Amino acid sequence: MHADAGVAAAPNVTDSELETLAQLLTGLGITLTLTDAEGHLLISAPPPRRDAAHEPPRTVSMNLADGRRLVLAPDSEAERRNAEARQRFRVLAEHSSDLIVAVDADLAIRFASQAAATLLDIVPEELHGRTLAELLAPEDRAGFIARHFMHAQRRGPSGTDLFRALRRDGSTLWIEARVVLLPPGNGLGDYLVTLRDAEQRKQAELALGQANAELSALASTDALTGLANRRMFDATLRKEWFRALRDGSPLSLLMIDIDHFKPLNDQYGHQAGDAYLAAVADVIERNVRRAGDMAARYGGEEFAIVLPGTAAAGALETAEAIRRAVVAARFDGIVKDGPPITVSIGVAATVPIAGAGAATLVHSADAALYQAKRNGRNRVEILS
Ligand code: GH3
Ligand code: MG
Ligand code: MG
Repeated sequence: MHADAGVAAAPNVTDSELETLAQLLTGLGITLTLTDAEGHLLISAPPPRRDAAHEPPRTVSMNLADGRRLVLAPDSEAERRNAEARQRFRVLAEHSSDLIVAVDADLAIRFASQAAATLLDIVPEELHGRTLAELLAPEDRAGFIARHFMHAQRRGPSGTDLFRALRRDGSTLWIEARVVLLPPGNGLGDYLVTLRDAEQRKQAELALGQANAELSALASTDALTGLANRRMFDATLRKEWFRALRDGSPLSLLMIDIDHFKPLNDQYGHQAGDAYLAAVADVIERNVRRAGDMAARYGGEEFAIVLPGTAAAGALETAEAIRRAVVAARFDGIVKDGPPITVSIGVAATVPIAGAGAATLVHSADAALYQAKRNGRNRVEILS
């Protein structure tokens, strides 16, 4: 657009009016250039200001040479609707308990709602010019940006991962974030980010996770002795059986039964019986230390120990160590001058072969235990 084409030729249009016009036209995607008669550049459309696209167009009026007046004004109805929308946004944003933040593409904060004060203890004005990343705990920044802004660019949902926001005093607050890409020229910014206090949700998740861990531990633990329970024993034995079958490695099983436990129960009562059971379990546990070994309460006053990667010699050694440790243990805390406690142990050891199952190992250890009882108790036996 040249100075001699239309309105700009008017001699009494001031330079500043032309600058304003140039800005206005630039905002609409039109370039204005003013030259003198020789074609020397007097004014060209200024480069769009950083936030020119976000500013509502202003009214420009100028006096033409013939005394008429030219007014360029935005569509007042559209402008009114825009103003109303901006007002509605502000009311919603200011009254939301969520922290609503508008950011540029480089994440510079252009607007932050009042909730910044309650969530982060920071007044919104302090946030202008800072970046969104600065509001997050350093270790969460990269993940947050990757998670949310990549999604926002694809216009997909940004997910509900939790991140830690930084409060003024350096403490952190778990937040849930939503990021949406805004349409161009909206007057707010490139992205709208909603940060919601998720501290309670996080604490609930943590508590739930802990409760689940406790429940699954309970589901596999014997309440009286703290050893693995029968269900855990069955699962572990099956798992180790197939692992040994695959690896061609040995697998051993000890079955332990307390000797003459019934008369002890009858004489001192069930509660003392329970205490003896727990005490014997402690002795067993202290003697089963290798990673992968598993001691379980098999039922009643019987215990079973799975020894992966262990052949007969090692299994017999472990069994003998347990037998001796029980003999040596002092159970005085339960019954003063109580009876001596002993155990009989049946040992089975094998290298699993296809076609057989873990049950064969249990039968074999059971038979060896029966033999130990028959041969006088307080002994270790293995079937030859
Ligand atoms: P043996 O030397 O032949 O093993 O003799 P025993 O008396 O120990 O015989 P058996 O193993 O058959 O006895 C099991 C007894 O263990 C029956 C019951 O009185 C006792 N018992 C089983 N489970 C529990 C328990 O959970 N608590 C208590 N207190 N006693 C139990
Ligand atoms: Mg028994
Ligand atoms: Mg017994």
